Amino acid sequence: MKYLKSYQLFESINKNNGLPNLSELKIIKIDTIEGKNKWSRSKDKLIHMILDLGEWENFPSDKIPNFYDNIKKYLPSMSKHRCSEGRKNGFFYRVKRGTWLGHIAEHIALELQTLSGYDTGFGRTRQTRKSGEYNVVFNYEIKKMGIESAKESISVIKDLIEDRDPKIKEIIKKLKRYE
Ligand SMILES: [Zn+2]
Repeated sequence: MKYLKSYQLFESINKNNGLPNLSELKIIKIDTIEGKNKWSRSKDKLIHMILDLGEWENFPSDKIPNFYDNIKKYLPSMSKHRCSEGRKNGFFYRVKRGTWLGHIAEHIALELQTLSGYDTGFGRTRQTRKSGEYNVVFNYEIKKMGIESAKESISVIKDLIEDRDPKIKEIIKKLKRYE
């Protein structure tokens, strides 16, 4: 049994760069929360995404080559995200030191909405009872735009991991269609 487990782990690791396969990162579900909720006292329109990091649970941002440089390069305006540091560049500092991909998805989903003209700004990411699984919660102004921002945040993360240009302008053009 032990042997089988480590064999499966080996199979899920991408042999080229020692990182897990991107398919390990999965959206379990996305729904919306309206009205009074346990996540925010003031925000009552929230997107709730359950994200399974799979093997990526063992790879916070500081363990992913070029991730910090890529997110700064392709999403420079995220320097405004203060995160828990409470200061400019606070979020980038967290990425540099190492934070998990669920937390990063939350911030990217918020930034995609900001760049589309909707400065939303509330987000929380907490692990569920299952290891590697996260509740990613953030607010929205336009429901469909919020849901699509959640999905897009994951494809942006995958591009950043793979050193690919996530083509943010094209994503924003798509999101603006929901205005
Ligand atoms: Zn944060």
